[in-house]
Amino acid sequence: MADMTIFSKIIAKEIPADILYEDEEVLAFKDINPKAPIHVLIIPKKPLKDIGEATAEDAAVLGRCMLVAGKLAKNLGVAESGYRLVTNKGEAAGQTVFHLHFHLLGGRDFSWPPG
Ligand code: 5GP
Repeated sequence: MADMTIFSKIIAKEIPADILYEDEEVLAFKDINPKAPIHVLIIPKKPLKDIGEATAEDAAVLGRCMLVAGKLAKNLGVAESGYRLVTNKGEAAGQTVFHLHFHLLGGRDFSWPPG
């Protein structure tokens, strides 16, 4: 399990965030330091540290995160132009907040492979 992180505080509404979607298991909010015109973080409320901590019992919430990402992409107008959905696992991959999250990035072109 993740230790208390800034995202735990956002889930608990102890610090503000620009929330775009919430249900009992999933929260989505705008990234505070956006790397693209559209940059949303989709997180399970369960405090998993990263994708490597997820188990079969988390399959439903992980699936729900993916579906929320797809719906938000449509609502935010990037479904047609394209978007990137990514999670960073570990510091070498660029993870800085150790509560599992998926980045939904859109509104510009992205290079592949990532740097
Ligand atoms: P990571 O680098 O772990 O893959 O992504 C963490 C993301 O969380 C970063 O893009 C960063 O800008 C974002 N972030 C960090 N602190 C906060 C915060 O307090 N509020 C919001 N909305 N985003 C945050």
